[in-house]
Amino acid sequence: LRWSAGSGWHDGRLEPYGPFTLDPATAVFHYGQEIFEGMKAYRQAGGSIALFRPEANAARFNRSARRMAMPEIDEETFLHALELLVTQDGAWVPEGIGNSLYLRPMMIATQRGLGFTHPSDSYLFCVIACPATAYFGAAPRALTVWLSEEYTRAAPGGTGFAKAGGNYGGAFVAGRLAAERGCDQVVWLDSAERRWVEEMGGMNMFFVYAPAGARPRLMTPALTGTLLPGITRDSVLTLAALLGFDAEEGRISTDQWREECASGALTEAFACGTAAVMASIGTVRGVDGQWRIGAGLPGPVTGRLRDELLGIQYGTRPDPFGWVHKVC
Ligand code: PMP
Repeated sequence: LRWSAGSGWHDGRLEPYGPFTLDPATAVFHYGQEIFEGMKAYRQAGGSIALFRPEANAARFNRSARRMAMPEIDEETFLHALELLVTQDGAWVPEGIGNSLYLRPMMIATQRGLGFTHPSDSYLFCVIACPATAYFGAAPRALTVWLSEEYTRAAPGGTGFAKAGGNYGGAFVAGRLAAERGCDQVVWLDSAERRWVEEMGGMNMFFVYAPAGARPRLMTPALTGTLLPGITRDSVLTLAALLGFDAEEGRISTDQWREECASGALTEAFACGTAAVMASIGTVRGVDGQWRIGAGLPGPVTGRLRDELLGIQYGTRPDPFGWVHKVC
């Protein structure tokens, strides 16, 4: 689909996957006006194919578009593009829990010219698809994460809440540092004080307090404008209530995290996102040492939430919230 000032969205088509040609002076190459979404089509029990909460992706895409001075796309058109592609590529949606067809809607600025006086006056929206398997391997394991004190991901007033490509380009350097220190993922802290936990590379985070015999309590960092409002995060908050857990949005500092590990108050932590679904965090590493969460292994509260979420996505459990959007 193309957009130009005056004509709006037009020229929608379904094309075989392949490269496209752009002029070297195209706006997206110079000023980073690019946004995207990450979502999945699931092969449900019974064979049909479904999207998970695609309306939420459409809404987030438009929030990103507004922040990046790009045109919005109405929900109906966004969903229609996804449905066309998924129907066409239905044979590529693999079977089995953990397998899916990953979908990547994206928009780029296509005006030619190097002036930085106003946003592009033309845009291209497209969706690409790619079969995906389980992100961190099939068997759940606990991740080791790196606290990034040197680099931050997002500043107040910036683009952290948007799914803009530029947010990710600046994150590789911290990811490389984390890998060199034997860690799977980076934990981003706030940019002002470098002590409040925000999120991970492509996932939001939850902290679990489940003392023996008591009702589990979950806490996830509040949406302050510098972290991405994950659709999985929102789903987990809703599922926690369904399972009888307490859940709240709040904040946690790195000092508090360390103390709660030492005291045993924190029993589990996990990260969640479309690609990884839910991944336990077992060990935290930072410039002044490392500490372990509970037994350092995937925990039972994380497991129950994960089973419930996967059950709804793959159609093996009831969908009380109307999250599943059947395509074909
Ligand atoms: N944070 C960031 C930075 C992400 O890129 C993602 C993946 N979209 C998430 C969190 C999780 O969001 P979602 O649950 O919508 O996939």
